[in-house]
Formats: sequence, structure tokens, C-alpha cells
Amino acid sequence: MTTTVLVVEDERKLRDLIRDILERERFAVVSTGSGAEAIDLVRRVGPDLVILDLGLPDVSGQDVARDVRRHSTTPIIMLTARIAAEDRINGLELGADDYVTKPFSPRELVLRVRAVLRRSLTGEPEPAIATFGAGEIVIDDVCHVVRVRGAEIDLTPTEWGILTTLATTPRRVYSRYELINRVRGYEFEGYERTIDTHVKNLRHKIEVRPGEPTAIETVVGVGYRFTLARDG
Ligand code: CA
Repeated sequence: MTTTVLVVEDERKLRDLIRDILERERFAVVSTGSGAEAIDLVRRVGPDLVILDLGLPDVSGQDVARDVRRHSTTPIIMLTARIAAEDRINGLELGADDYVTKPFSPRELVLRVRAVLRRSLTGEPEPAIATFGAGEIVIDDVCHVVRVRGAEIDLTPTEWGILTTLATTPRRVYSRYELINRVRGYEFEGYERTIDTHVKNLRHKIEVRPGEPTAIETVVGVGYRFTLARDG
């Protein structure tokens, strides 16, 4: 089954780049630089996902999003150069499912697209924000951010994939093989041993408190598990 993505971006170069990135990942791509045409294409083509630039020359991205929301449940990823918090909130009110801030890497875009599609296809939205260990670690899936005791930390796509997989079911042991399979959606490349390096780096970043037991435990001969209980 082909998944069709509508790309709405008036900057020609960027639009073509996004098209290339998605076509390489075997998505069917329809694209336009016009907000008015985008509204029309959503109705005529019925895409599985819309990537929508906020700043369009004719109809604003916000108005396009509003119109898409009125007529369908098609997920929307907004492209924005603006990082102001109020834009995030505005976009959420309009029903955007995720944000990608320019400039972005091809990898980042693809993983966001996959995550949004996964949520929309399974029909069971993952809770947007999950907190663990009495608030020690927060995984915010909407803003794609991890916070450790309130401080935002930067994760690579692979580290993000590993952490969100392990945190799906705290205490459950995931084998290396299983982690690679789950994280493959995030373009993980490598062998079982490579996962150890990623876990080591991830651990370093999310260490709860120096000297305290790690949030990610090694289960010798088996794999890894996330040790913090989910709050609430
Ligand atoms: Ca633009």
C-alpha cells in the first residue's frame, strides 16, 4: 500500500528536497507551493499526511490547517522557521500533529513522518507526554523533547528510538535484536553490538543522579530495561 504525502512549501528548493527525501523512502509525493491549491489537493487526492509550511504567500499555513481539519482527520506536520512557544500552541489548537523547525535534517523529517503515520494508522494515539520516576524524566512526543529533571536534553534519532521503546513498558526487558527492529524506523544502521554504544551514550545523557542506579539497566546476556516507573 502506497502512502501519499502532500508537501506544501512555497520555497521551491526546499519543496524539491522534501520530495526527494520522501520518495527515497518510497512515499508517493504530491506537492504545491500554494495554500489554495493545497486545500484543493487535500480534497481531490486525500493524502495520508500533509507537510505544511506555516508561511505561504497566498493562504497562510494556519488557514490551510484549519480547512484541512474541518474536512478530514489527515495528520499534519507543520514546517516552521518560528520557534516561539505561541506558534506551537497555535498550531496545536489548529490540529497540527507535530512540528519540524527549519532547518531540519532529512533524517529528522523522515522519523517525524513515520511517527505521525504510525500514530494515525494504529488509531491509538500514544499519550503525548509521559513522565517517569516521579517527574525525573519526561518524554514529550508532541514536541519531540526529553527532559531530565526539567532540563531539555538532545538525543540522536537512534537514542530517541531506544529510549521511547524501552519506556513503552518499564521493567520489561528488551533484547538487542528487538531494540534494533523497533528502532529501524528511525534509520538505525548497525549490528547488535552497536546498540550497546548507543545505550551507553543515552545513559550518559539521562543519568538520573550521579552515583544513583541508572534508568537503563543491563540485563546480562539478554538486553536492557528501563527502570523508572511511569507516573500517574
Ligand atoms: Ca514559506
